[in-house]
Amino acid sequence: MKVYKFGGASVKNADAFRNLANIVQTHGGTTRLLIVVSAMGKTTNALEQVFDLAYTHQNFDDALQQSCQYHYQIVQELFPATDHPVYEELEHLFSKLKYTLQNLNHQAAYDQLYDQTVSFGELLASVILHHYLQLQHLANTWIDSRKYIQTDTTWREAKIEWEWTERLIKRDLPAILNEQLIVTQGFLGGTNNGLTTTLGREGSDFSGAIFAYCLHADAMYIWKDVDGLLNADPKHFTDTVRYAEISYQETVEMAYYGASVIHPKTIKPLANRLIPLYVKSFLNPAGEGTRICDCKYQKLAPAYIIKQNQCLLSFNAKDFTFISEKNLGTIFNALSELRLKINLMQNSAISFSICTDCNDQRLQKLLQTLQDQFIIHYNTGLTLYTIKNYDTESINKTVAGKDILLEQRTRTTYQIVCK
Ligand code: ASP
Ligand code: MG
Repeated sequence: MKVYKFGGASVKNADAFRNLANIVQTHGGTTRLLIVVSAMGKTTNALEQVFDLAYTHQNFDDALQQSCQYHYQIVQELFPATDHPVYEELEHLFSKLKYTLQNLNHQAAYDQLYDQTVSFGELLASVILHHYLQLQHLANTWIDSRKYIQTDTTWREAKIEWEWTERLIKRDLPAILNEQLIVTQGFLGGTNNGLTTTLGREGSDFSGAIFAYCLHADAMYIWKDVDGLLNADPKHFTDTVRYAEISYQETVEMAYYGASVIHPKTIKPLANRLIPLYVKSFLNPAGEGTRICDCKYQKLAPAYIIKQNQCLLSFNAKDFTFISEKNLGTIFNALSELRLKINLMQNSAISFSICTDCNDQRLQKLLQTLQDQFIIHYNTGLTLYTIKNYDTESINKTVAGKDILLEQRTRTTYQIVCK
């Protein structure tokens, strides 16, 4: 039993769908394979914008229409028969989405409404994929992952109710998988009262891992537009190296530092059941890719990770006392309440500095909460560079010409925050 996860880029147009079906046919087989799919192309970003317009009582018709057209255009290429049932399902989903947007209950939290709306991207993609694979004689059952992946109500970053989820998956899915494929959505979960949750941006990898874990899969595959897990993002670096094999531990750390190739939560469930994760290219499916597993290597090529849009905050106690554990407790509490994650921190006698992702709304709230007790300075628009398994050469290459605001190194990891 295997799990395949296909991200937005692997379903961004009609050719991408054709390529995906080929991969399933050639590498996946016709049973014992569960396919998790993300929203098509940049749909999630588009739906975020539509939602924002609706939430702020602006006209969202054009923005919604654009997303609608994008989907229809691809569907028309894939399904020439205009009476194909996919058209009716698409229409149904889009009218439901419109209804949701027109009837936002402003009593509810922004994040809750976001989940009810933005989740349509995955529903659309999975319905289209379900029908397209059928058309290619790849018999499959469409399942609603919200009925299986059970979560709490931490909107936009829902926590998994593991026991419940595992029970539901084990109850229904193995029997289906013995007969045919399953197509389902990444990114989505459901609460016990039937509301939709999402697992965090780029969370479809995590969804794949949840299914793989609960089904005791033999392997999970993430199909991407790169050749595997690389030591740097090819968008920023030229001479990248692919890791043929790498440990769960190394991968988790890279994801933690901001390597965007795999969602950070993906590895733990797989590692717990020793399920290998393959990262492969959907452009070169025969290529070796990367195998992430329980292995150890003495020396790995340095990994370069860039996290942009960072904010560096420094806190000084107003009464000129030293930064105490009590002060730190206050700061950490506020950060945790606002779900602002610390990417790096450093303290000195009278000041405590942290680097977090910039989120204007949350940042302003943080300042409001803490400005009575601390003098707070901050810089936005910064970049955090991390080198894992660094050497002198990799550091020299990275720091050259940079205006460094903060530097930190451990035995394995070197980090700088720069303008
Ligand atoms: N579609 C969602 C996103 O863009 C989830 C994912 O792609 O994994 O964040
Ligand atoms: Mg995506």
